[in-house]
Amino acid sequence: MTPSDVLARLRTLQEGDLPTKGGRTLAYVYDSGLADADDVARQAVAAFADSNGLDPTAFPSLREMENDLVGFAADLLDAPDTVVGSVTSGGTESVLLAVQSARDSRPDVDRPRMVIPSTAHAAFHKAAHYFRVEPVLVDVGDDFRPDPAAMADAIDGSTVLVAVSAPSYAHGVVDPVADVAAAAQERGVRCHVDACIGGWVLPYAARLGRSVPPWTFAVDGVTSISVDLHKYGYTPKGASLLLHRSPAHRRSQLFASARWPGYTMLNSTMQSTRSGAPLAAAWAVVRTIGDAGYERLTTRVLDGVDRLVEGLGAIEGLRLPVRPDSTLVAVETDGSCDVFTIADEMAARGWFVQPQMRFAGHPPNLHLTLSAATTDSLDELLAAFADAVAVARERGPVQVDPGVAEVVAALDPDHLGDEEFDGLLAAAGLDPAGSSVVPDRMAEVNALLDLASPELREAVLKAFLDRLQRPNRR
Ligand SMILES: *Cc1c(COP(=O)(O)O)cnc(C)c1O
Repeated sequence: MTPSDVLARLRTLQEGDLPTKGGRTLAYVYDSGLADADDVARQAVAAFADSNGLDPTAFPSLREMENDLVGFAADLLDAPDTVVGSVTSGGTESVLLAVQSARDSRPDVDRPRMVIPSTAHAAFHKAAHYFRVEPVLVDVGDDFRPDPAAMADAIDGSTVLVAVSAPSYAHGVVDPVADVAAAAQERGVRCHVDACIGGWVLPYAARLGRSVPPWTFAVDGVTSISVDLHKYGYTPKGASLLLHRSPAHRRSQLFASARWPGYTMLNSTMQSTRSGAPLAAAWAVVRTIGDAGYERLTTRVLDGVDRLVEGLGAIEGLRLPVRPDSTLVAVETDGSCDVFTIADEMAARGWFVQPQMRFAGHPPNLHLTLSAATTDSLDELLAAFADAVAVARERGPVQVDPGVAEVVAALDPDHLGDEEFDGLLAAAGLDPAGSSVVPDRMAEVNALLDLASPELREAVLKAFLDRLQRPNRR
């Protein structure tokens, strides 16, 4: 293929993707709406695509930019002079490393455990799975926050880490960080604050006079914080930060190996050869937007959240399970309609909102991550919601065939083979081999998945992923 054919093909491929600009995608992407920031990001990606973060001395530019970004975040997060940190590839890697470094700081513990609220991000479950750290889940109350006393009670001699969110992804509320961190500190246990999504917003919210409970390094017992640049730093994907209170806290995260005949491998994160592009782009965007720019973006987005909360609450059929502390809004129905149909109707109107399945006695709901670019079209968003809900109410809640529901309830994910999974996926209307792998209307599929146990949902979706990832052979 000629380069121009290749580029044309790339553009065609991209047509099927969710739009990343324009503010109509309310999960996955974060749009500052600032053309100059997008422009420097693109140029920085291109300029640093071939650089390699493998060796911190071979590309001193990367070390310099990383230390700048950690320094910027340290100021934002009220960090002491001792703070250190690393740029990682994303929030999941930051969380994985927080768990790994906590585990490896306690070689005396045979069967390490971590205490987390039931609302903690799935990245902690991934860390548990990778590193064999048993998650001890603490239920949350009606306000979707864990009781600090229950968190404290869950700590025992095997606890290597306690973690909380600022805020949680699913409900957008800030956990009681100060009380949990104090309890952890009293017991000599590390406390990680997962501020992947809120870390670049909450400090500005506080500065703007909004009430934000303490959650940064200003809280004594907080030992590490994760903050994603590629969320509310509005930088291209592939950049997050993990900060530790002191070099001693980070030590167990560092890795070196001289036990082979090649170069001595020396890494602070999970990757070894890694492109400098996301780091350079993050540095470029943070420099372009700057402290004052982030404050302005935060003003816009928080005013937007206020309007969104009020507007959604005024739509007959909708209600908010909790008042959000930050920029993430969860919205559920009053039972007169279902969220999955609303999501389909929103998609038909050019808006992507993310369904969240029922969990721990709470009904399914829709997740909206508000970014600055969306604030220009909030009236349009609310009008689309009003229309979508009206249609969904007219139709009534999506029904799952009772026979199918019964079959789903009886399935044991541990005893399903490939044929059963093929059958289940076909019954659900998912066609991994088709040109469009998911149907236009997802309400029926989602309603079915919603009925499934978390274990069955995981198993079916893993079977789906397995079938999605098959090579295109010549
Ligand atoms: C997004 C997010 C993560 C995971 O980050 P990725 O960048 O998607 O890997 C972890 N914790 C919270 C609270 C998040 O919002």
